Amino acid sequence: TLSDRLSGIFTKLRGKGKLSDADIDATAREIRLALLEADVALSVVKQFINRIKERARGAEVSQALNPAQQIVKIVHEELIGILGGEARRLQFAKQPPTVIMLAGLQGSGKTTLAGKLARWLKEQGHQPLLVAADLQRPNAVNQLQVLGGRAGVEVYAPAPGNGVGDPVQVSRDAIGHAQRQMRDVVIVDTAGRLGIDAEMMQQAADIRDAVNPDEIIFVIDAMIGQDAVATAEAFRDGVGITGVVLSKLDGDARGGAALSVRAVTGQPILFASTGEKLENFDVFHPERMASRILDMGDMLTLIEQAERAFDEDQKERMAAKLMGGEQFTLEDFLEQLIAVRRMGPIANVLGMLPGMGQMKDQLAEVDDKHFDRVTAIIRSMTPGERTNPKIINGSRRVRIANGSGTTVMDVNQLLNRFADAQKMMKQMGGMMGLPGGRRKAT
Ligand code: GDP
Ligand code: MG
Repeated sequence: TLSDRLSGIFTKLRGKGKLSDADIDATAREIRLALLEADVALSVVKQFINRIKERARGAEVSQALNPAQQIVKIVHEELIGILGGEARRLQFAKQPPTVIMLAGLQGSGKTTLAGKLARWLKEQGHQPLLVAADLQRPNAVNQLQVLGGRAGVEVYAPAPGNGVGDPVQVSRDAIGHAQRQMRDVVIVDTAGRLGIDAEMMQQAADIRDAVNPDEIIFVIDAMIGQDAVATAEAFRDGVGITGVVLSKLDGDARGGAALSVRAVTGQPILFASTGEKLENFDVFHPERMASRILDMGDMLTLIEQAERAFDEDQKERMAAKLMGGEQFTLEDFLEQLIAVRRMGPIANVLGMLPGMGQMKDQLAEVDDKHFDRVTAIIRSMTPGERTNPKIINGSRRVRIANGSGTTVMDVNQLLNRFADAQKMMKQMGGMMGLPGGRRKAT
């Protein structure tokens, strides 16, 4: 697994404080392999890895995670973003019936999905109608009828004995039937071929034009592997796609097809199919899929724990310091700034840190850019200056301003604010005295 392979790099990288280009390249190489192993298409992997590298290069150095962990975290976040960026529900027509057309290769799971969708919609109070527009295979109509029976949903099919039947005509008639029967959702099951086929694509396009669907759902077998891109492109261009359903996720496919299809079609993955039974079906969860593709749930748990432990540790050290009446230094301030920055927009997280809560007023108007400037200023100070800012005279201020790319005025402002805050925290620390015991988090 990726975890196994990365552990090599992990030991190599542990203890380094910075994401070097070489670190990023080595880790990116392993992640690239892992994505290919998960059957993500090569072109999609390339694009994705480039994005990851870019983000990793621009990333703040994390204090809680080693560089490889940090990159894995970025990869996971990006995967979730891509898989669920525009996650959405089914689109319903303003004027019922809503028409949902299913398209995909033969055996991809369309007919099964039709039954699942019908059952699911019915559970939500809809009155669906299933339409058997696959008249290619002799057994297809019967298969849908069995599923419809199980779901307790009516199936519209050509009357037996009427010859082969025209799937376009059947679909068109079905809409009229649905209107008369007050059905609010029509699910049109269509035929597929084993491979992409011009005739099949034309038939699907003709059905589309006859029923004017609100959703064209492309059903794809998660096991399809590297063929995902070509298949998705063919359906995108041949019929058009408004949403995707990934089927057979109960198998051992790692699900890289999800990423490929999402990248190629630009359309959201709406549902996941996880078995032959009607209830093996759920809305799509990008988070789960991302973990599955990377195959590193354990690693992600570790990362979460490391970050949480780091925050806790920092909080406790800081609190102990304040309780003991020790001086809060610029060094401590910097440490907290970095921790806060990692957690998100500063305004949201300031209150979460002990001590920092007291500085809320001083920092209330501070935006994130300003925040980075403050960090840069403190980083340009010597350790001596950080513990004893009183020694920072005029010429030191000029040096610090130059070193941090700021102005002397910025430096002055920071030092004044810090002095105020320090005074206040000293008072607070004295007032709080020593704690009676350690409080447990609840
Ligand atoms: P269609 O040709 O696209 O209509 O595909 P079908 O719905 O007939 O499915 C083809 C085969 O795959 C059938 O044997 C289904 O029972 C099976 N199948 C469909 N969806 C799933 C799924 O999510 N998991 C598993 N394990 N089998 C599935
Ligand atoms: Mg079918």
